[in-house]
Amino acid sequence: MTSVEVKVKRVLHFINGNYEQSSDEQTFEVKNPATQEVIAVVSEATEEDVQKVSQVARDAFDHGPWRTMSLADRCDKIRRMAEIILERREEIARLEALDVGKPYSHAFAGEIPRAAHNLKFFADFMEQQGGEAYPMEDAYLNYTRYEPVGVAGLITPWNAPFMLTTWKLGPCLAAGNTAVIKPAEMTPLSVSLLGEIAKQAGIPDGVVNIIHGQGRVVGTAITENENVDIISFTGSTATGKAIMRNGADTLKKFAFELGGKAANIIFEDADLEKAIPVSINAAFLNSGQVCLAGSRILVQRSILDSFIEKFKLAAEALVVGDPQDPATKMGPLVSEEHYNKVRSYLDVAKEEGATLITGGGTPKLAAHLKDGYYIEPTVYYHEDHKARICQEEIFGPFVTIIPFDTEEEALTIANDTDYGLNGVVWTENLKRAHRIAHGVRAGTIWVNCWFVRDLRVPFGGFKKSGIGREGGHHSLEFFSEAKNICIAL
Ligand code: NAD
Repeated sequence: MTSVEVKVKRVLHFINGNYEQSSDEQTFEVKNPATQEVIAVVSEATEEDVQKVSQVARDAFDHGPWRTMSLADRCDKIRRMAEIILERREEIARLEALDVGKPYSHAFAGEIPRAAHNLKFFADFMEQQGGEAYPMEDAYLNYTRYEPVGVAGLITPWNAPFMLTTWKLGPCLAAGNTAVIKPAEMTPLSVSLLGEIAKQAGIPDGVVNIIHGQGRVVGTAITENENVDIISFTGSTATGKAIMRNGADTLKKFAFELGGKAANIIFEDADLEKAIPVSINAAFLNSGQVCLAGSRILVQRSILDSFIEKFKLAAEALVVGDPQDPATKMGPLVSEEHYNKVRSYLDVAKEEGATLITGGGTPKLAAHLKDGYYIEPTVYYHEDHKARICQEEIFGPFVTIIPFDTEEEALTIANDTDYGLNGVVWTENLKRAHRIAHGVRAGTIWVNCWFVRDLRVPFGGFKKSGIGREGGHHSLEFFSEAKNICIAL
């Protein structure tokens, strides 16, 4: 199969229930990273547009029916959004493959159903929530209400645009807030549909708004806006810092899901039949553009040679190709800029004396993909875990195998990083599994598995990988204000 026929799409802002262009009619182009064809012309918001959309969301919160309607009605509408997403699953998955460059099959089987589940899960979960009650002898009764905060700015990255936006939108809406969504500029296509999906589901106008543009302009304007009360952000650590600075004057509440550089620790007693394919997935899923990627593979020295041999063969067997082809397991990188950044680490690896195990070049591709931003699945070996390739988030199909001898050494290497989003441990020794899981300073540890998600659990990062937690009641608390009411009896 070759690429699907592409008509250039016009992507507009979604404000107060209508799609509209920017006040100054400015636009920018989005390209298909597999071919460099222009696939969309997107409205580029001005600061005035951000002021307008924030005011719309404010008015919808203060005066609209959303926060005062019955919880059952609100949650029914959110569940309806989830149903519509499933009805339009193929179309949305095709759009994700088109602008992100991720394999269609992955989006169709994994991320789009998960996006629907994000909405349904938080609607169902919200309906189960109660509050605390603290009687003070027989004199007073305290009880707690969880009320919506107001207008939420939802700023999301390009690597899983639809899934990550719904991961924020679900709890935001279930808790009764209104939203200003800002998708990543390179990948606006799928998220843009959330406006019409919300409208079709009966969500009142002004509750779900979407605004497009460059992060440093539109993202900054949302962050600085008086009408926006909270920011839920997923993206890079550098942008997280900027948002924190820019939101200080308006005293915003933040939730940050940031970068990672996870250690995937393989002990000599690991079941390699399972560890190898899962580690391949952890390294190369979405071309390695996953915050949870197991990009540092720590291998116990006694099994180093056999691990490297098997891992190399599995990496070389990955089918790299057209994201729209169901057989493709790995597509291109998202953009020219990102491609150049990832490629620059090939030079860094050479300078640092790392040993190339496989990859580093351009894969053999069909003619129509010759201009795509492709890099082969790339595996290095390096003894020095302090090297830049072992410390910096490369966010591409690029992993480094690092040897260790003892459990203690594995923990030291795993923790010697600024990041702390997640870790992975492979061992058949239960006590060791717990010891390592307790010792690694990260928000999620997977033992003998990776990327298994239960939406009730806390999700977030230690250190520079984030602030706060999402998931279950953690998300709902972020999107709520707790109010105590004390009654004299
Ligand atoms: P990014 O930080 O460049 O951009 C993310 C979003 O922020 C985009 O919508 C962008 O337009 C916007 N933005 C940029 N500058 C801004 C500013 N000054 N103010 C407000 N908004 C601004 O990140 P990216 O390159 O799109 O995504 C990759 C990063 O995201 C990686 O570091 C990855 O680890 C991280 N990520 C983390 C998680 C997680 O759950 N922890 C999940 C996915 C991605």
